[in-house]
Amino acid sequence: MKMASKRKTDEKMDSGKPSKVQKFTGHWSQGLLTSMDDPELVVKSDDRAVIIKDKYPKAKHHFLVLPKETLPNLKSLKPEHVDLLEHLEKMARHLVDTTDKTLKFRYGYHAVPSMSHLHLHAISQDFDSPCLKTKKHWNSFTTEYFVDSKDVIERLKKHGKVEYDIKENTALLNNDLRCHVCGSAQKNMPALKTHIKCHSYKVES
Ligand code: AMP
Ligand code: ZN
Repeated sequence: MKMASKRKTDEKMDSGKPSKVQKFTGHWSQGLLTSMDDPELVVKSDDRAVIIKDKYPKAKHHFLVLPKETLPNLKSLKPEHVDLLEHLEKMARHLVDTTDKTLKFRYGYHAVPSMSHLHLHAISQDFDSPCLKTKKHWNSFTTEYFVDSKDVIERLKKHGKVEYDIKENTALLNNDLRCHVCGSAQKNMPALKTHIKCHSYKVES
């Protein structure tokens, strides 16, 4: 595949909806499995998990933490995975501590992920990135669609499984645009992106 057309297809994959028939050997939704073996993207690994850079980062720092065990999504989790989820979060926090201690981060999962293989997002809260383009991108990280790792772990401890309502959560992606810091309404993505520059994302000392 030529570079230009590959890039175009990759961008479509990020939105989760390829518009044309794919020529890949694997389905686009399996891309994270390929990226787990890509030395350009892997930043850290141990016997249980791999941390990669998100290929289309939605903030200054955006990492994905993936278990080595085959776990397609949150629904695959069983009570014995509590320890693994705690390990994924601990690994992410450790990486952030050694990467950039000055910025605020959130650690969590998309309630309805588009990509296969369980992945924890570790994302700085500046959302300063050219890859953050759409209302869906924004709402996926700033509404309840983004579930904190701690809440997922609590849910698994309490119920022995983790399930989120697909319809209810998908509807959140169409919420009106609001600043994640002050809650002010924003008329479109360019206005939002300008507005969020007025806040500080530094960790308070
Ligand atoms: P989600 O499945 O909604 O939790 O999000 C998937 C994340 O994976 C998004 O933040 C994408 O930018 C990112 N992504 C998509 N394809 C790849 C890839 N091949 N390698 C690394 N990150 C990817
Ligand atoms: Zn604001």
